[in-house]
Amino acid sequence: MSIKFERYGKGLAKGMVITLKHVLRPRITTQYPEERLNISRRFRGSDFVWDKDRCTGCATCAKSCLQGNITVVTSAGKENNYVVEEFEIDVGRCISCGLCVEACPYTALHFGLSYEKGTYRRGDLILGRDKLELTPASQPSGYDRPEFEVRLPKQTMLLDRAGRKRQK
Ligand code: SF4
Ligand code: SF4
Repeated sequence: MSIKFERYGKGLAKGMVITLKHVLRPRITTQYPEERLNISRRFRGSDFVWDKDRCTGCATCAKSCLQGNITVVTSAGKENNYVVEEFEIDVGRCISCGLCVEACPYTALHFGLSYEKGTYRRGDLILGRDKLELTPASQPSGYDRPEFEVRLPKQTMLLDRAGRKRQK
């Protein structure tokens, strides 16, 4: 009986120490949407970035998608190549598994960093070329793309536990 008590008492003390640590932690309330934190550089966003110049129309991404979310329509080009006529992703059905991004042999498809793509109409979640194409304003995620990851700002959603400050 006394052994049990000691064991439970120790656990309780440990729990209280953790609680106290959190009570004394600096407040980190963020005034969203006026103030925004940096999300993970490898975030799987609710959007995609598609590099039409790198895309060969091979449709490996479409074949990799378990949900059948990606539509690639091609025609035959003059140089025995594919011309991409349509490229579409239904992000409303996307489970953000990342298989399409990882499967693309030409690194032409990337996750975006967006998390604010809520809409009233389901059809608006089908993203066509105009919404997917890589532009100077696009923000591709560093997910499976170390070359992008190094360029993105550090995540600020977590506390820097050592310094007890937000990361810059
Ligand atoms: S992330 Fe997964 S579910 Fe979403 S489009 Fe790519 S393969 Fe399909
Ligand atoms: S995005 Fe990649 S996998 Fe998809 S069709 Fe283009 S080159 Fe092929």
